[in-house]
Amino acid sequence: MTTDAVRPSDTAHPGRAVSQPTDDVPGPTIDTPYVIMLVRELLIALGEDPSRAGLLDTPSRVAAWWRDFLSPDPSAMATCFTETLASDQLVVVGGLSVWSLCEHHMLPMKLDTHVGYLADGTVLGLSKFGRIAQRYAGRLQMQERFTRQLADAVVAAIGSEDVAVAVHGVHLCMSMRGVRMETARTSTVQAGGRFRTDPLLSQQFLTLAGRRGAP
Ligand SMILES: [Zn+2]
Repeated sequence: MTTDAVRPSDTAHPGRAVSQPTDDVPGPTIDTPYVIMLVRELLIALGEDPSRAGLLDTPSRVAAWWRDFLSPDPSAMATCFTETLASDQLVVVGGLSVWSLCEHHMLPMKLDTHVGYLADGTVLGLSKFGRIAQRYAGRLQMQERFTRQLADAVVAAIGSEDVAVAVHGVHLCMSMRGVRMETARTSTVQAGGRFRTDPLLSQQFLTLAGRRGAP
C-alpha cells in the first residue's frame, strides 16, 4: 500500500529541540494491577490454570511488558544542527527497525523504516531518528498511521516539507494467523514537498529506501 500527502509544516528551530506535531497523542494511563488481574482471568478463560508453577508469575510479567511497551521515552525529541555546507543534500537514514503492535489483532509488527530529507542548512541529529520511531511504534498502531506520524515529526523538526518516509512492515497477523503468508511485506510511503514534485529525487529516495536489511 502506498500513501502520500502534503502536510503543513511547523516553524523550524535549528539548534534546539522542537516539539512533536499536534496530532500526537498523550501516553496512556496504565493500571498495572488491573492488567495483572485481567491476564490471570484471560488464562482461566483460555482453559489454563494460572496457579500452576509455569504460569504463577506470567500475569505480572505480561503486565510489566505492556507497561514498558506503552511507555516509550517521552523526551525523544528531534535536535537540529546548523550546517551551512549541507546544502540541498539528500539524507536518507535507514535501518531503523522498530517493533509495534497491530491495533486490529494486538499482534507484533516489525517496521523497517527509512527517513529521507533534504538537508539545506539544517541537519537532524542522526541518533534521534530511532528514538522518534520508537516513540510512535510503542502503542497500538497501524503501519500507515506510523508512517505519517513519523513524517510529520521530521517535517516539524526541520521546518520543511521536503521529507519522505518509507516503511517495510512484517505483520504477524498476516504471518501466523489468517492467510499465514510468512513472506508478505507491506510497504508504505509518505512523501511531501519536493519528494512529490521531483521524480528524480523521489526515485533516488525509493532506491536507497529499498535497500532494506533482512526482516
Ligand atoms: Zn493485524
